[in-house]
Amino acid sequence: MGSICGDSQPHHVVLFPFMSKGHTIPLLHLARLLLHRSLTVTIFTTPANRPFIFESLNDTTVTILDLPFSHNVPDIPVGIENTDKLPSMSMLPSFANAAKLMQPDFERALQTLPSVSFMVSDGFLWWTLESASKFNIPRFVYYGMSYYSSCVCRAVAIDRLLFGPESDDELISVPRNDFELPFTEPEPKGLQIEFIMEVVIATAKSHGIIFNSFYELEPLFADYWNSECTPKAWPAGPLCLAEPPKGSTEPHNKPKWVQWLDKKHDQGSSVLYVAFGSQAEISPAQLKNIATGLEESKVNFLWVIRKSESEISDGFEERVKDRGIVVREWVDQREILMHESVQGFLSHCGWNSVLESICAGVPIIAWPMMAEQPLNARMVVEEIKVGLRVETCGGTVRGFVKWEGLEKMVKELMEGEKGKEVTKKSKELAEMAKKAMDITD
Ligand code: UDP
Repeated sequence: MGSICGDSQPHHVVLFPFMSKGHTIPLLHLARLLLHRSLTVTIFTTPANRPFIFESLNDTTVTILDLPFSHNVPDIPVGIENTDKLPSMSMLPSFANAAKLMQPDFERALQTLPSVSFMVSDGFLWWTLESASKFNIPRFVYYGMSYYSSCVCRAVAIDRLLFGPESDDELISVPRNDFELPFTEPEPKGLQIEFIMEVVIATAKSHGIIFNSFYELEPLFADYWNSECTPKAWPAGPLCLAEPPKGSTEPHNKPKWVQWLDKKHDQGSSVLYVAFGSQAEISPAQLKNIATGLEESKVNFLWVIRKSESEISDGFEERVKDRGIVVREWVDQREILMHESVQGFLSHCGWNSVLESICAGVPIIAWPMMAEQPLNARMVVEEIKVGLRVETCGGTVRGFVKWEGLEKMVKELMEGEKGKEVTKKSKELAEMAKKAMDITD
């Protein structure tokens, strides 16, 4: 970045994360890295997202500016408490369009700020390119995906959108089952395609891309991106290693689930962590099958579910109470994954979850649910070999998972030979991740 930061003033960077946890959290880690290098950081967000950002960075000098958000967002159902937090991926295009209404306020705020050296904005906030250009600020795009899935999306999706299905499979061979357009709701398709194209075009015209990844994890794809795609991209991660989890060391100050993990560790037991990120919606029938699969597997588990998914099945928690705990709160996932007792992760393969698991040396049972998660799952299982794939009904990527299949994979990961192989590989990659971030034990 030397060419754009040529003077001796402390450089001022504007960060603008998208309003969902999976997109915000890595940029907060990036903020720490920038502050650590003595840059000044201003973060833009919305009122509903401000408290989370404030709590995460309240020990730093970062400035947080919140812009008003439209409260008449089409497709966001009445009753959603804060319209300025993306409640579910199915609402993404209309939510992202509503975010564009912040542009005039964003530009008014930029006018009042001390000189900005560069901006890092989430790719979904495509319109920040126009704002950045007006103020002559180089715009970097934060891409919340791996190089792998970005290359596949670029090679397959964009070509398919522009040139039709016959353009598939030219450069990177991915079975059709593992590739879907990131937004799978049938309607309104026009809105989705328009949105994707806005994002892609604004990204292509930006100064560069910041990937939350590290070169050694996916060298072929990092090289592919920089030889075949524009703009140039840099791996800045794994950003989850930018700071250790805040977790307390005082036993009585620890959340109850960490105390539970401590107890399991003292007993010499290993634990499967089960969580599907902040956006996935799981049906009651699917929840019941997960519960039965976990119960029949006889492994210890810590299962984080969303508050709205509180019904599991009658008597389940009581029956498994000696070896399983269900948590209905926001947890510090990194703290859980780094806990010594956690030896496996049943995950939806959101990119942050994958990276956090890799950095903790914890192997994954890959159960992709939406967006580019099928590609992440494929990368986890077939490319970097740190996980096993859950079996879905009918072999479709996002299909229903029956408890019998789940039980089998859970046992295989926690006790089987394949589990041992992927655990070994996970631990090797965890060491490489630390080296990439200059962290040594
Ligand atoms: N997360 C967390 N606590 C929770 C739920 C999620 O810390 O209770 C974090 C998780 O560690 C990750 C992010 O939220 O950093 C979720 O991002 P991911 O890409 O895995 O999935 P998404 O939520 O975007 O589907």
